[in-house]
Amino acid sequence: PIEPWFIGGPVIKGFGRGSKVLGIPTANLPAENFSDVLSEHTSGVYFGWAGLSTRGIYKLVMSIGWNPYFDNTEKTIEPWLLHDFGEDFYGEELRLVIVGYIRPEANFPSLESLIERIHEDARIAEKALNLPLYAKYTDSPYLRNSL
Ligand code: ADP
Ligand code: MG
Repeated sequence: PIEPWFIGGPVIKGFGRGSKVLGIPTANLPAENFSDVLSEHTSGVYFGWAGLSTRGIYKLVMSIGWNPYFDNTEKTIEPWLLHDFGEDFYGEELRLVIVGYIRPEANFPSLESLIERIHEDARIAEKALNLPLYAKYTDSPYLRNSL
């Protein structure tokens, strides 16, 4: 297990690279607010809990990686909430507690294999977050503060 870390802010527009079209929307946060905490963590895929103001608490899987559009000191996070909202929630306050690490960043031979791997990551996150070790973080005041 990793030392849990907490980040949050208003959901902002990402690069619109079509993640929603792939069925994997990622709620982007203004990363400049927590570049320190990001630089402390290795690139890869993590899981945790998301608190979304006025809605509730949800499981999430999140990739952390280098943003090719910026210089190499800029990391971005891409949190996918494992819930079907059926609508956008730009501007809402999103609080995250990241509790576990799944795998390092990797290259995939095709988009299909990348998507398949992300769905496998989501299954791993779904299961792991049911364990008391990880489920207990749903009580975090930080997550619930904005509810
Ligand atoms: P963007 O490039 O603006 O981040 P995406 O295609 O990644 O666009 O879609 C992300 C947006 O979709 C989020 O900001 C949020 O408003 C909405 N959304 C709907 N369902 C989800 C979900 N389950 N997880 C994350 N974002 C979601
Ligand atoms: Mg996104």
